[in-house]
Amino acid sequence: MSDLDRRSILAGAALAAGATVIASEAGAQAPRMPFTIAPTLIPIAGSDQMFPVRRIYCIGRNYAAHAREMGSDPTREPPFFFQKPTDAIQLVPAGGMVDHAYPSLTKNYHYEVELVVALKGGGKDIAQDKALELVFGYAVGLDMTRRDLQRAMGDQKKPWEIGKSFDRSAPVGPIHPVAQVGHIGTGRISLAVNGTVKQDATLAHMIWNVAEQISKLSEANELFAGDIIYSGTPENVGPVVVSDILLCKIEGLPDLSIRIV
Ligand code: MN
Repeated sequence: MSDLDRRSILAGAALAAGATVIASEAGAQAPRMPFTIAPTLIPIAGSDQMFPVRRIYCIGRNYAAHAREMGSDPTREPPFFFQKPTDAIQLVPAGGMVDHAYPSLTKNYHYEVELVVALKGGGKDIAQDKALELVFGYAVGLDMTRRDLQRAMGDQKKPWEIGKSFDRSAPVGPIHPVAQVGHIGTGRISLAVNGTVKQDATLAHMIWNVAEQISKLSEANELFAGDIIYSGTPENVGPVVVSDILLCKIEGLPDLSIRIV
């Protein structure tokens, strides 16, 4: 046997021993992986549990006045859905403020304050009158947007993913279970920049309410526990610059704040 053969046998035995340790720690069925990926988890308010995020869905143009400011006619165009990657989540503690880096490639970076709906169950073709039973809880979120890239791609009839679905584009606060806060669907939603209110509406202004969003989305995709839905932003979206402080409020949930750095 050559030295090379001997070394490869020893290396193989060491790997097998390591795999055995991992399997026995995690259960006999644990798959072997060359590396691990951190799961995306959102704290659950009033609990030591975390909410595991499966997918992030976002709804576009769900407030009539915002649809108009984006150049569409809300009476003719139904709202639509897009996704952000799960790891676009940036956690923001309740009552705290985190630094949010101004992203690359854009010169027109916009805020969009949104109600976030977190699901504990799913299904296909969910009836509207059953949809709210699937809601685990609610959070305040920001659908941060590279508006110039979104518009440029839209003008070229290309996917505007680069304007919406980038790293840390989804700041979100803790999820508040329905058991604690009830269903959030009619109260005030607002956003201020450096103390000046910019967006100010009520959730009742949503074109499609939460139950309708879940029902419509489940026509396109089977929904599962762990899916979250950014439910659209009211009018008066606008740009931020470095050092701006954003304060987001939704009645019934704690405030969410980020600082652009
Ligand atoms: Mn949005």
